[in-house]
Amino acid sequence: SLSDRLNDTFDRLRGKGKLTEADITSAMRDIRMALLEADVNFKVVKDFVAKTKERCMTAEVMESLTPAQNVVKIVLDELTELLGSTESKLVLSSRIPNVIMLVGLQGSGKTTAAVKLAYLLKKQGRSPLLAACDVYRPAAADQLATLGGEIGVPVFRGDGKDAVEIARGSIREAVDNMRDVVIVDTAGRLQIDEQMMQEAVDIKRAVKPDQVLMVVDAMTGQDIVNVVSTFAERTDFDGVIISKLDGDARGGGALSVRQVTGKPIKFVSMGEKPDSLETFYPDRMAKRILGMGDVVGIIEQAQEMADAKQIENAKRMLRDGFTMDDMLEQMAAVKKMGGMKGILSKLPGGQRALNQMGGNLDEKIFDRNEAIIHSMTKAERLKPSIINGQRRARIARGSGTTPADVNSLMKQWGEMNKMMGKMRSMQQQASGKKGKK
Ligand code: GDP
Ligand code: MG
Repeated sequence: SLSDRLNDTFDRLRGKGKLTEADITSAMRDIRMALLEADVNFKVVKDFVAKTKERCMTAEVMESLTPAQNVVKIVLDELTELLGSTESKLVLSSRIPNVIMLVGLQGSGKTTAAVKLAYLLKKQGRSPLLAACDVYRPAAADQLATLGGEIGVPVFRGDGKDAVEIARGSIREAVDNMRDVVIVDTAGRLQIDEQMMQEAVDIKRAVKPDQVLMVVDAMTGQDIVNVVSTFAERTDFDGVIISKLDGDARGGGALSVRQVTGKPIKFVSMGEKPDSLETFYPDRMAKRILGMGDVVGIIEQAQEMADAKQIENAKRMLRDGFTMDDMLEQMAAVKKMGGMKGILSKLPGGQRALNQMGGNLDEKIFDRNEAIIHSMTKAERLKPSIINGQRRARIARGSGTTPADVNSLMKQWGEMNKMMGKMRSMQQQASGKKGKK
């Protein structure tokens, strides 16, 4: 992957200590190849490498004590710049209802993105309404209705025939039902054609959206730039949502969009679940690409979930030890953050580790362990040390697992508990010292 390639280049530089011009030239050649192979637009690559090289070739960098470090920093800077420097948040106007319209080719991920956006806004305390304006695909409105139902957001379908009329109707519906944001999901075509563009223009004229966002599929590769540019020629829009960035797309198109079209990337979509739409932060994305990890993102996610109860729980665990119920909760939290994969992919070097595992991360263990814990009695969960051979066999039967599975969970619990014990004694030592002062 791009991250691996870039990291190999950086590793080579680090191994050198002092850098010569030839070292930098060769590193820049590697970076150029890596970007091209990741499908980044050739002109973007050319400019990027020229700028980066110029900044690296200064005496300041080459004669510094940590030249390789400086090169990495410059690449990071330039990559961030390429992606748009600062984030371009979705700003809702004071108009009620706010109207956000999604456009894009068929299959690009509009409907999925509409639902995710609705979910995100709902979590922020808004009351969104989804408007089903794709009247061409027979099951399009059903798809939206099902997904909307899953996240508890109403879907306006109107007569199901006239897209412009449905869009208009959805605004009235929102006003009547106190919904403060309308998200208009439109129809796409396999290719940009006259009819699709005209319909987009007509809907825009009818509902005057506050924001028009174009959804593009990361897998489109080089062609993303053409699609976005052609679209922009016919009707203006405010930003881009890049979908399917979780797939094995090389992602180069995403790296080119901002530079070539001048349109900011607002969100990236990283999966099929409703909570997998992320605000796009150029610096974090650049770090992710360089394998430096999105530690800030993880902390934010964790903070979102940590409430007073969890802090209370942590204190109790330190005091009384780690129960099976705690283990259940912990597994649920990891799942919520996208599973081990979701967390690993954001940690420094994590994406690399994942690639090396070749997707062999067994998330099913979670489900199995959950089933096992659910088969324990209350007493067993609170005091797992009472689980003897007989109990173990019963739990295995109840959860459809084997005693060996139960054993391995018990072992995990034992290790967790040992760790808690260590932390407890560390804490006691620390507070003991303070007490003596
Ligand atoms: P539309 O035709 O533009 O409305 O596209 P859809 O929203 O129906 O999406 C097309 C397909 O792509 C569906 O199977 C979605 O589940 C899938 N999809 C959409 N967004 C993502 C994403 O971010 N990640 C993944 N893995 N799949 C996605
Ligand atoms: Mg659709």
